[in-house]
Amino acid sequence: MKFPQFQYVKPRSLDEALALLAAANGTATPIAGGQSLLAGLSMRIATPASLVDLGAIAELKGIAFADDAQSLRIGAMTRHADMLASPLVRQHVPLLHEAVQLVGHVAIRNRGTLGGSLAYADPAAELPACAVALGATLTLVGLGGQRSVEAADFFRGFLETALEPGELIVDVRFPVAAAGQLSAILEFSRRTGDFAQAGLAVVARAAQGTLDTPRFVYFGCVDRARLATRVNGVLAGAGFPVKKPAGLAAAVDADIEPSDSPGCRADTKAKWAQVLTGRVIDLLNQRAVA
Ligand SMILES: Cc1cc2nc3c(=O)[nH]c(=O)nc-3n(C[C@H](O)[C@H](O)[C@H](O)COP(=O)(O)OP(=O)(O)OC[C@H]3O[C@@H](n4cnc5c(N)ncnc54)[C@H](O)[C@@H]3O)c2cc1C
Repeated sequence: MKFPQFQYVKPRSLDEALALLAAANGTATPIAGGQSLLAGLSMRIATPASLVDLGAIAELKGIAFADDAQSLRIGAMTRHADMLASPLVRQHVPLLHEAVQLVGHVAIRNRGTLGGSLAYADPAAELPACAVALGATLTLVGLGGQRSVEAADFFRGFLETALEPGELIVDVRFPVAAAGQLSAILEFSRRTGDFAQAGLAVVARAAQGTLDTPRFVYFGCVDRARLATRVNGVLAGAGFPVKKPAGLAAAVDADIEPSDSPGCRADTKAKWAQVLTGRVIDLLNQRAVA
């Protein structure tokens, strides 16, 4: 199908963008890399009266240490390719570096952005899961002011977030990896570069021979990125090399709450999640001794 008709505006500042969104009273949509939105327009799932292009707004760009040097601030308009090429991301948020390589193909990584991925909140996307596993914080701004939202509170359901109408993601703050941090991400997808059918992103700490504060987050086989609280509880404090403790399989099933979807049964998703859990634990065991 062809795109519906829409107006196109390209503000030069955040204030201008917010004013345009507010004036449109819900009929304008921000556009970042356009990789999901343009597909929605061509299928007429999205029919905004105008598109507000965020591409010229300096405040939304860049990768740098936040003022406290405890986190990396990544602007919402930072492209996947920029994160992949960043030595700061590679060294200080290695999970993100690993995850971005799994996002789509080169052409998609050259256009798609961090903010677009989180705002779209696809449950099969890698970056929302990583943001939750890493304990990232999003800065949101609207005409009413600025607020910080933990990634764990941001994703509300299938393609649903805590963004209010007219609000934008400005940046995301990822805590820098402390000594002893372990992380890993694995997924199953039909072909390289496809969205994950099932995936698992994990951050934990190796402390005194045990797995400390594990943060397992499944994606693809769940309705949204959220902490797998039961799995995390079962694994917390396990000694290295971590074996599969009693109760782990039941915890995985309880956390992902799989449901049937077109072309995939709930029990298949559960099986994938179980296999990924075992493989990620193996990977953490290897990384703990590396
Ligand atoms: C063929 C294909 C394969 C893909 N494969 C993968 C994959 O394997 N894994 C994966 O994670 N992703 C994948 N993607 C998605 C892609 O990587 C982008 O992350 C995604 O399209 C959204 O980013 P974007 O910048 O293109 O956002 P857009 O498409 O421009 O916007 C998406 C939504 O976010 C809103 N938005 C954008 N920026 C902001 C902001 N700063 N504040 C508030 N709202 C905002 C827009 O209004 C829109 O509703 C794929 C996309 C395609 C087309």
